[in-house]
Order: sequence, then C-alpha cells, then structure tokens
Amino acid sequence: MAKQPRILAGETAAITGAARGIGHATARALLAQGMRVAIGDVDAEAAAATAAELGPSAVGLALDVTDRDSFAAFLDESERELGPLDVLVNNAGIMQIGRFIDEDDLTARRMVDINLHGVILGMKLALARMIPRDRGHIVNISSQAGKFGAPGGATYSATKHAVVGLTEAVRGELRLMGAQIELSYVMPYVVNTELGSGLGQARGFANLEPSEVADAIVEALRLGTVEVWVPKSGKRTNVLGAVLPRRLSEGMARAMKVDRVLADADTITRRGYEMRASRSEPGLGGAPEQPQIPSSAGE
Ligand code: NAD
Repeated sequence: MAKQPRILAGETAAITGAARGIGHATARALLAQGMRVAIGDVDAEAAAATAAELGPSAVGLALDVTDRDSFAAFLDESERELGPLDVLVNNAGIMQIGRFIDEDDLTARRMVDINLHGVILGMKLALARMIPRDRGHIVNISSQAGKFGAPGGATYSATKHAVVGLTEAVRGELRLMGAQIELSYVMPYVVNTELGSGLGQARGFANLEPSEVADAIVEALRLGTVEVWVPKSGKRTNVLGAVLPRRLSEGMARAMKVDRVLADADTITRRGYEMRASRSEPGLGGAPEQPQIPSSAGE
C-alpha cells in the first residue's frame, strides 16, 4: 500500500539563507503548511525583516553556514524558540561565475566553503539532533548544475555535484544504520532570484519562480522524494543525456544552448549580485570582481 503523505502541520524547520530568494519562498510555503520556521542568514538584518514579514511562527536569526559555532548556535536558538528540529533545508549558496582559468582562489574557496562545507556542517549538526529522536528530514539544495557541468560556472557546478554525492552517500549510511531520517536533494533550473539574475536561456526551459521550487520542497517533505528535479522534465533530459553517446549528448546540449546559460550571463546585470556574493563569508575577505566570459568565447 502506498505511504500516506506526511502532514507537516506543527513541525519545525530551519532554513539557511532564507532572507531572500528560494529560501524566503520556502519559508512562506512551509508556514502555509502550518510549520514553524527559523530563517537563518549571513545578512542578519534581512533575516529579521523576512521573519517579521512572515509572521509570528517565523524567527529570523544570524547564521554563517561556514562557521560551526554560528551554525550550532542557529540550531540551538531555533530549537529554543520553536521546538525540536524536524526539518533542515540547506539552502544558503552563492554562484560567482566567470571563466575557470580567470577565477581567483578566494572566490573558489568561498563557493566550496558556503555551498559544500556549509551543507556538510548543517547535515552533521542536524543529524546529531535527529538521530537520537530517530526522526527528521534534511533537504539539500543542489542545482541542475549538480548533474551537468555548466561552462562559466565550473567551481559552482563542482560544489553542486558534490552536494548530490554527499546526500546519496549519507543516505546510504543512514539506511545501513537503520535510521529513519529522510534526505532529499533538489535540482532547480534557473530561478528568478538575485543569484539567477542576468543568466542566458536554454531552449525549451523557462525560468522558474522561487515559489515553484518551494512547492517542490513541500512535496518532497510530504512524499519523502529523494531526487527532486524542478521542473520535473529536467530528469528526462538528464537521463537522455546519460544514455546517448557523448558526441550526441554534447550536440544536444549545444542545440538546447544549455552550455551557454552561465557562459552568456550579462555581467552588468549581475554586478550587484556578484559584489554581495563576494562578501558572503565573513571569515574571508571580499574578492575582486571577476572577468566574465565574452559571449563569443570558446567558439
Ligand atoms: P539568493 O542569493 O537569492 O539567496 C541566497 C541567500 O543565502 C542570501 O540571502 C544570502 O545572504 C544567503 N547566504 C549567503 N552566504 C551565506 C552564509 N555564509 N551563511 C548563511 N547565509 C548565506 O539565492 P537563491 O537563488 O535563492 O539560491 C538559493 C539556493 O538555490 C542556492 O544554494 C543556489 O545555489 C540554489 N539554486 C539557485 C538557482 C537560481 O537560478 N537562483 C538555481 C539552482 C539552484
């Protein structure tokens, strides 16, 4: 008999990087399910403003996902104010794009620290709370760049591939331990947020709204889905790409222009975002602006 969808009302979630974008939309969607939500963000002022806007079942807290003490304090405070943690959404992430050979080391380090070490830390800290209770669900936000190496975003793609591998491996460990903790990873196409601003377009894919990713996260929590594609058709394209000979799959990617989505980004539109992203790890200094790939590069 099919498993009944889980009822989320009354549960508690903590969402990283939820002051804006996908995290903000996810907080709104989880609150609409009757959950209590802690909004953590390196931009503490924006986290507090988002929580105030979303109402009394939300709290806004300072969080730097790259710092173990900060992450532990975020989860402690969230549990003190809202109750035991049922759900952690590891959403905080940055995407600084440009040609790999031009990327400075600090930019690469910052993306690995936030997008990968932040998720590793979050999973360890949440599992330490969830395993003794034998309940909980961790949702890690990857990207379609977690399955496809995106030119113009090599280090970003590497971090998102790593999140997929990490989630699969830890899920396997939990199964071997007999633990009932659920793990999911979410792979959205381009979303209309600051991080997704000024990107190129692939044929046959429309940009998503943050609420569409949030709805997919709600569905994953309710149904226990492990691998979450947004839109769902992304899976078909990925499976097709994997079974075709490389010459054909690369030809298909070129025909759909998926290889140009990051490489053709409009650097002027992205300037404000790139500057903010370069200040997203307080422990590291801000990086200089990156040279970007001109649209004719590599042809
Ligand atoms: P966004 O920039 O709108 O929001 C990200 C939030 O994370 C910001 O509020 C930022 O302050 C916060 N943050 C950054 N560094 C942090 C840190 N060290 N500690 C805590 N918070 C930190 O971006 P978004 O588009 O909402 O992205 C959310 C997630 O979705 C990211 O992991 C991103 O890689 C992923 N994603 C985005 C897209 C897209 O096109 N927007 C597509 C696929 C996946």
